[in-house]
Amino acid sequence: MTIAIHQVRLIDGMGAVHDRVTLLVRGTKILAAGPSKEVRIPKGAVRIDGRGLTIIPGLIDCHVHLCLGGEPDVVGTLESEQPSYTLLKSATHAQATIDAGFTTVRDVGSRDHSIFTLKQAIEAGVTPGPRIVGAGRAICMVGGHARFIGQEVEGPAQVRQVVAEQVAAGAGVIKVIASGGVLTPGTSPDEAQMTIEELAAAVDAAQQAGKRVAAHAHGATGMKNAINAGVRSIEHATLLDDESEALMKQYGVYMVPTLSALATTAACRSGCGIPESALTKAKSMTKRHQASFKAAHRSGIAIAMGTDAGTPFNYHGDNAQELERMVAFGMTPIEAIVASTATAARLIGIQDSVGTLTKGMEADLVILKGNPLRRIEVLRDRDKIMGVMKAGKFVAGPLGK
Ligand SMILES: [Zn+2]
Repeated sequence: MTIAIHQVRLIDGMGAVHDRVTLLVRGTKILAAGPSKEVRIPKGAVRIDGRGLTIIPGLIDCHVHLCLGGEPDVVGTLESEQPSYTLLKSATHAQATIDAGFTTVRDVGSRDHSIFTLKQAIEAGVTPGPRIVGAGRAICMVGGHARFIGQEVEGPAQVRQVVAEQVAAGAGVIKVIASGGVLTPGTSPDEAQMTIEELAAAVDAAQQAGKRVAAHAHGATGMKNAINAGVRSIEHATLLDDESEALMKQYGVYMVPTLSALATTAACRSGCGIPESALTKAKSMTKRHQASFKAAHRSGIAIAMGTDAGTPFNYHGDNAQELERMVAFGMTPIEAIVASTATAARLIGIQDSVGTLTKGMEADLVILKGNPLRRIEVLRDRDKIMGVMKAGKFVAGPLGK
């Protein structure tokens, strides 16, 4: 069967916008995308009138934790749950994510190997959800940040072993913790964690398995250690300084800002349930984080969208709030969409199949009422999401009914 969406506005993911386009979907893939005058609609195709609608590539969130539900005290919550309960919860988060138009996520830290089970269930059609590139456990130092969803390690040899274990379990990316964090009590975002030797061992072992490494780092020293070790992306990059900024540019390291993570936590008052230590840390860094994002954007560092969804009050399904924040801090709407599609796909290494709307790509797309280039908020408005398609099938929105 062929689906033809005609006379539609098309945002291709690479920065171009075309009006009056016809997009054909056959099977799981895009069969054609071009001017309506030129693309012939095959006989028997299901036609969708695209006037007043906009198509964008299925959105990609490069930083989520599907095992966390945005609870104020995520550490305490996870520790109080049975693993099977956490997995059930993750499945509902996956559904909320795809309903919101996010057809791919990179999950950078989950309870044990639950993310690989979820990925398998989604791929088998057991439960709905986005494509998942998962890290499994985040690799951290003994007593380090994120150990509640991590694997504590000591020394390069153990790092190599843990990387191999994660890959064997199904990891599509390796996550390392190169600085303290907000949510783990007793760790400071400023301090560097894991040694350069350990970080380099992670990168080397990951590369041997054909995987890339994402590094959590708030402070500049942690960022520099991770960049010099050869990681592909810096997550958060909160306290960017001139040197870390220059290094990221020099080595083509991506920034995944996760503005929503600090902002949603910092917006809370004392007594909201977020542990005081996390609240204080978040509030003290928000302004610096925004400045770091602006500096990275100005200097042309590749920015890939990520929300850190799952952290306190940062809900799965609300992922598009990150695009609003990126626009509020200086990106144009089209830049924010590129960061959430083509650039995100490049960071993950799946740019040959998703992230852009051209012939031969997987048919992952979102059909919107209105124009997100005029109002980026359209992306977060459920009444405006007319259809979400993953691999050629409508999985959400009224068009799929
Ligand atoms: Zn995170």
